[in-house]
Amino acid sequence: MPEGDTVFRTAAKLRAALAGEELARSDFRVPRYATVDLRGQQVTEVGSYGKHLFVRTPTVSVHTHLKMEGEWRVFRCGQRWTKPRVSARIVLGTEDVEAVGFSLGTVEVLRAEDEHTVTDHLGPDLLGPNWDPEEAVRRLRRYTDQPIGLALLDQRNLAGIGNIYRSEVCYLRRVHPATPVGAVGDLTALVHEAHRVLTKAAHEPPWRPLAYGKTRRPCQRCATPLVVALLGESVPDRDRTARRERGIYFCPRCQPAPGTSE
Ligand SMILES: [Zn+2]
Repeated sequence: MPEGDTVFRTAAKLRAALAGEELARSDFRVPRYATVDLRGQQVTEVGSYGKHLFVRTPTVSVHTHLKMEGEWRVFRCGQRWTKPRVSARIVLGTEDVEAVGFSLGTVEVLRAEDEHTVTDHLGPDLLGPNWDPEEAVRRLRRYTDQPIGLALLDQRNLAGIGNIYRSEVCYLRRVHPATPVGAVGDLTALVHEAHRVLTKAAHEPPWRPLAYGKTRRPCQRCATPLVVALLGESVPDRDRTARRERGIYFCPRCQPAPGTSE
């Protein structure tokens, strides 16, 4: 599932293709917006906030969310699309290029002045210009009993982290993912680690996971085989894909369970 770094890089790609250009084509393949026509409007900016993406014109903001499988690709006009046409949800074209959003989880057209309603409830954006670590710590501390592995996923605390980076951040800080937020030794350092990891992933891709997806592989610090566990949700044992994707990966030795010592 795409996380904040992917959305950030998608915004950069769309910005390079569309910003400053006049739209020659707009095609919304979702019933609610099928009649929206943005032809003649200039794209003023493309922005992201956490996992949310915004293509802005002077009057509207086209809000999309990649959810599980979503992806934006940019093609030269006339170039064959590299994903099935039937999965296209939106096409925004200029004289030269077509930006196509495939399999998007959310597509909505907001009045420009309403864009903030999407992000008002979110915590600070790890990759945004107004990243505020103190505010992220303050928000995390509202629910001190919540396991840190779940609190990091909650976009109302800080925006941009998904399953991959919550495992990575907990691993790097040697914090067991089930540790209650209130018992994390240095929450500020953990928040700074999250910022460092997402920033590196966004600006120097690809991020090579240290823990995520590494079940039974040796910990790079202590060689103990890493393990995967689910936190706060039940997934059938036989649903191995869900366990693999939604599980949190950690070293049982470097990241001792809360209430125990090494
Ligand atoms: Zn270890």
